[in-house]
Amino acid sequence: MTRRVGLLGGTFDPPHLGHLVVAECARVELELDEVRLLVAGDPYQKSTTSTSEHRIAMVRAAVADDEHLTVDARELDRSGPTYTADTLAELTAEAPQTRWFFILGEDAAAGLSTWERVDEAFALATFVVVTRPGDAAPDDATLPDAIVHLEIPQLEVSSTELRERFAAGRATRYLVPVAVDAYVRTHGLYGNDDG
Ligand code: NAP
Repeated sequence: MTRRVGLLGGTFDPPHLGHLVVAECARVELELDEVRLLVAGDPYQKSTTSTSEHRIAMVRAAVADDEHLTVDARELDRSGPTYTADTLAELTAEAPQTRWFFILGEDAAAGLSTWERVDEAFALATFVVVTRPGDAAPDDATLPDAIVHLEIPQLEVSSTELRERFAAGRATRYLVPVAVDAYVRTHGLYGNDDG
């Protein structure tokens, strides 16, 4: 049988409950065998504050207790900017029978037309855009018809806000998995110095 694998790509600086809800909803709704959190090595369209070593360690901590969520570190091993088309080509060569689903939020989807060789990426995976309940599907002529829209409960949590909360010493527990909260504080990430 064809294996169905979801890929939730991200900078994950830090990973939070919004990411896990997206991954779990996609897994259940799309009947995926597994969802991999794909950590971007050099997310060249974003500035990151944490090293890739810290980001992957946080993602591993975030999914440690979930047998259906796994971590894919391949993009950290590639030099240069992280292009999803390269990753999908690698994955397809390794497992040609697998059907890949690339999952992304609305903001990330709005930038798809700026991605490197996005048509190659579209050809190698089914793109899944998660939207808030009641939101209209993104109206963008550059997106292929094959994009799947998936409604999920929206958690108003973002990595940007979390970095600010850590820096200001505000509450973060439960907005990120407990193990991620402990990791950030232990390593003094985001200007947090109360570890
Ligand atoms: P991120 O900020 O770490 O977030 C990861 C994903 O989770 C995004 O799709 C994001 O969508 C979604 N998300 C975060 N919080 C959410 C919430 N509360 N509810 C629902 N969804 C939520 O990731 P990123 O840095 O934007 O990167 C996304 C992927 O795009 C990565 O795999 C990256 O490599 C890829 N990318 C590729 C190229 C290229 O190939 N040239 C260019 C740019 C990005 P939102 O953005 O909507 O929050």
